[in-house]
Amino acid sequence: MTKQACDYLDETNYEKSLKKSGIALHYAFNLKNDTLIARNYNIIGINFHDLGEVDKAAFFYKKALFYAERSNIVSLRMMITSNLGNLYFFEKKMYNVGITYYKESLKFGKQQKYLKEIAITNLNIVWSYFKIENYKEGFPYLKYINEHQNDLKGRSNDIALNFLNGMYWSNENDNEKADKYFLKAVSFSHSEDEIQDLSYAHLEYSKFLAKIGKHDQAYSHLLTYNQITQQIYNDEKLKKAAVAGFNLELNEYKRQIDKIENEKSMQYQSLKKSRIIVVLFVLISFILLFLIITLVKNIRYKKEHNLELLRAKEMAEEASLLKTQFISTISHELRTPLYGVVGITNMLLEEHKELSRSQHLSSLKFSARYLLSLVNDLLQINKIEENKVVLENLTFNISDEITMIKNSLSFLSQKNNNKITIEIDPNIPEYLIGDKLRLAQVLMNLVSNALKFTKDGEVEIIIKLSKVEGKLHYLDFLIKDNGVGIATVDQGKIFEKFVQVGRKEEDYQGTGLGLSIVKRLLGLFGSTISLESDIGEGTAFSFIIPFEHDPLKTKKIIEEIEVDLTSDEIYKILIVEDNHINQLVTRKIIEKNNYICHVVDDGFGALKILEDEKFDLILMDINMPLMNGFETTKRIRLQGISTPVVALTAFDKDEITDEAISSGINDIIIKPFEPVKLFKIMNYLIKEAEKVDLL
Ligand code: ADP
Repeated sequence: MTKQACDYLDETNYEKSLKKSGIALHYAFNLKNDTLIARNYNIIGINFHDLGEVDKAAFFYKKALFYAERSNIVSLRMMITSNLGNLYFFEKKMYNVGITYYKESLKFGKQQKYLKEIAITNLNIVWSYFKIENYKEGFPYLKYINEHQNDLKGRSNDIALNFLNGMYWSNENDNEKADKYFLKAVSFSHSEDEIQDLSYAHLEYSKFLAKIGKHDQAYSHLLTYNQITQQIYNDEKLKKAAVAGFNLELNEYKRQIDKIENEKSMQYQSLKKSRIIVVLFVLISFILLFLIITLVKNIRYKKEHNLELLRAKEMAEEASLLKTQFISTISHELRTPLYGVVGITNMLLEEHKELSRSQHLSSLKFSARYLLSLVNDLLQINKIEENKVVLENLTFNISDEITMIKNSLSFLSQKNNNKITIEIDPNIPEYLIGDKLRLAQVLMNLVSNALKFTKDGEVEIIIKLSKVEGKLHYLDFLIKDNGVGIATVDQGKIFEKFVQVGRKEEDYQGTGLGLSIVKRLLGLFGSTISLESDIGEGTAFSFIIPFEHDPLKTKKIIEEIEVDLTSDEIYKILIVEDNHINQLVTRKIIEKNNYICHVVDDGFGALKILEDEKFDLILMDINMPLMNGFETTKRIRLQGISTPVVALTAFDKDEITDEAISSGINDIIIKPFEPVKLFKIMNYLIKEAEKVDLL
């Protein structure tokens, strides 16, 4: 098609040439063949060039040049550049621009293989210089073509070369030579292909003939020129060419629009891509932000949480302290009136023997004792939980202890018609060292439980020596009954505080604290309790405790506790106590032992009487209005009175020991007290004081 377009162009059939090249261009674009695109644009350019549409021609030539450069076909680039030169030189009359294009075209053709293109460009240059009548500048180029005539290869070029030679010789006034060349140029008159060049040949020849005065011939050639020109540019032909050209332009615009559309869609695609990237970026940023916020919140929460935990710990510690204080205060407050109740009940029973059978009185005594044991139990549990209990080293005989327990529980065993049997391993040494009071407490609790929950049965206390490690003797205790038993489901619970299984409302069987205390006390011994029981079959509690056996140590301990109770002397005792019931109870106890007693209501009373009278010992209540026991004792000591002072208090001993010592108190006795214990202490202190006096 490109070839056909080229042929139509040679025949000056612009319409067909434009149409063909238009179609060829379309295919060339589809094939993406830059060479073919460049060639067809060039053909279109030449068509418009010939038709005098200079701007359009320039537009298409430049397009052709663009694709030719891409295709890198040198001959094509030379040809198009050369055509541009023609356009600027002949049509636009921009001679210098034209010649620059020509010379640029020549630069491509340094290599031998582009000889034809070089020759044609040279031809164009000659024509250009001659057109502006610069024969001198044009001549070297003419000389070159004349020497390389064979490179031209085309009759159209031959026509041009001949009339250009004619023009040169005409200017040189060599009319003969000129005429010869012109004649040769116009001799191609019958050919259709080179019709345009032929028309120029006739025109130039006519100019030459007119110059040399051959006007007839000149006129005749001018006519031929007109005729050929008319043939080339007849109206119909031009119209069709215009239409073809117009369509071509339309196509070109369409192509441009397509191109723009393509670019747009590509831009859209990349925009879409970049939009996706932006969306992803934003999304990831949000996720990161969210993670960071969560992290920060977490850290903050942890910080706060830790603070909360610390606060909670502090609060718990504070609460525990408050609880301890509360329990010790309550127990103190309860013990004081209980001391009165128990004491007065005992007094009543002793003074009025006839009341010993009174049901009311024994109920009163029982209730008071029950309350007292409850307070004591609570206090003890609290003390164990606060780690305030330290086991003591006392010497004891296990048989004696068990017998004592049995005797003290005889009332209970008779009540339920139970038999208590004791079996003690003969291998157990006679004297052991350990906290016998806490052991007795454990056994009392377990045996009294066994007696409580057994009717018409038997309670066995079996103690075996399980092993000996150096001085340590491991005793295996077993307290067994054949009573009601404990259901398997309840066996885990009963060691908790205040847990009672199947308790009847009307009887005071216990407080539910017994086993909790047992468990905790055994914990202090480093032991654990085991339980075996079946409903209706009975219950067996067992545990192992190591006790020290050391005869030397035992002897020393026994010597230390030896106190002489056989005293015939009558001592004078001062009682400082604000509570009147307690005054009564203490006075009774003291006077029963034949001691002389004087009671004052408060510390000031004590100080006053001590100014005039001398006493052997002072029993001092601690918790008194106006001035407490500590302060009173301090003042007594400040007056230089060294009479022994025994604090009688419902406070827990451990809590007041330090303050008591620093105030000058000699010993402490906790209310309610065993009278024997009080007298032991009183006698001991009085004797010690006498020794000091003697010195
Ligand atoms: P309580 O003061 O009620 O005796 P404990 O803590 O000593 O409290 O005992 C808790 C419960 O365990 C008792 O109420 C009772 O139901 C059960 N229990 C304890 N020992 C025995 C036993 N030997 N036989 C049957 N039940 C027992």
